Amino acid sequence: MNKKTQLIHGGLTTDPYTGAVTTPIYQTSTYIQDEIGDLRQGYEYSRSANPTRSALEGVIADLEQAQYGFAFGSGMAAITAVIMLLDEGDHLLLNSDVYGGTYRALTKVFTRYGIEVDFIDTTHIDQVEQYIKPETKMLYIETPSNPLLRVTDIQQTAEIAKKYELISVVDNTFMTPYFQNPLVLGIDIVLHSATKYLGGHSDVVSGLVATSDSNLAERIGFIQNSTGGVLGPQDSYLLIRGIKTLGLRMEQIQRNALAIIKMLQQHQAVEQVFHPSIETHLNHDIHQAQAEGHTGVIAFEVSNIDSAKAVIRELQYFTLAESLGAVESLVSVPALMTHASIPKDVREKEGIADGLIRLSVGIEDTEDLVEDLKQSLDKLNK
Ligand SMILES: *Cc1c(COP(=O)(O)O)cnc(C)c1O
Repeated sequence: MNKKTQLIHGGLTTDPYTGAVTTPIYQTSTYIQDEIGDLRQGYEYSRSANPTRSALEGVIADLEQAQYGFAFGSGMAAITAVIMLLDEGDHLLLNSDVYGGTYRALTKVFTRYGIEVDFIDTTHIDQVEQYIKPETKMLYIETPSNPLLRVTDIQQTAEIAKKYELISVVDNTFMTPYFQNPLVLGIDIVLHSATKYLGGHSDVVSGLVATSDSNLAERIGFIQNSTGGVLGPQDSYLLIRGIKTLGLRMEQIQRNALAIIKMLQQHQAVEQVFHPSIETHLNHDIHQAQAEGHTGVIAFEVSNIDSAKAVIRELQYFTLAESLGAVESLVSVPALMTHASIPKDVREKEGIADGLIRLSVGIEDTEDLVEDLKQSLDKLNK
C-alpha cells in the first residue's frame, strides 16, 4: 500500500462494531462485564484502552511501518513515557538542539530521579561514540532539528545504538511518517508531537509513539496504562481525521516551502537560509537519502532583532505564534520566543542569532505566501 492510500486505509478503516465508515468517538470511561472479567470486546477501562484511541494507535503503527502504536495526551507525555523506560542511574544522549520541552523535562524533572543526560552534536555521527558510557542506555535524536534544521544520520544512529545495546529513539515530528520512517532505517522507537503536522489543524494537543519491538512495546504499554498520560476519544478522533489529509497537506507545504526558500535565497535582506533542501546545508545528502521530502519549517536570518521584528510586523498571512505544522502559516523569532530561556551567549554558540526568523509554512496559495514575505523583506531595504 502506498502512503497516500495508507493514510486513508491504514489502521482500522471502518468501525468493527457498527460498520460506521468513520471511527466513532467512544466517549466512555468503562465497559460492561457480562460476568466478572468477561469483557465483550476486550475493553475494560478507557485508560487501558478505548476503541477510538485503539483505531488511532493502529493508524500510527501502520504509517510508521511498526507493529505497535500508542497515543498520549501530548508530545511531552509521549516523550515522558519513552524516557520512563530508563532506570535510576541510566544515562542518555540527545542532540544538543533538541526540542526545548524535552530539554526541560530531562534537566528539570528526570535528573531528580537520577537519570543522567548529555546533549551532544549528532550531526557528526562519527563523534558520538566517545560520549557513550557504561551507563548509557538510550540515544535520542531529532532530524532535522529546531530551529536550524540540522540533520543527523538516522541509519548510523541506529547502528551505533545496536553496537552498544542502546535504545534508539527518533522524534519524527518535523518530517512526519509521510516523508520519513526511522524504524525502517533500524531505529527502535519513533515518536511524534501529533499536535503539529499529524493533527495539522491547530486544534488538538497529542503525542504518538510507534515501535516494532515487542519487548519495548510491552513496557511502553505498561507505562502508558500505569502513569495514565493517555489521549481522550474526542482528540483521538480529531487526529484520525487530520491524518487522512496528511499527504495532501505535506505535498502543498513542501511546494510552498521550496518556493519561499528560492525567494529568500535571492533576497538581499536575507543573510542566510536554513533548510535541508539547500544543497550547501550540512548533511543535505544524508537528508536526501533518508527522507522522501521536506518539512515546512524554514529558518532564515536578517541583520538583527529589530529587522526581524519589522519583517514580522509587515506580514499578512503568517501568524505570529509558537508551534508549527498546521494548515496556516506561522512565524516566530526563536531568540525572543521558543529559545528565550537559553542564555544569549549559549544561543549564539548554537547558531541562533537574534535576527533569526522561523517559518512554519502552511497550505495557503504559494504565490500569496512568497509575495507576502517578499513585500515585507523589501521594506527592510528602504
Ligand atoms: C512540539 C514538539 C514537542 C512537544 O509536543 P507537545 O505536543 O507540545 O507536548 C516535541 N518535539 C518536537 C520536535 C516538537 O516540535
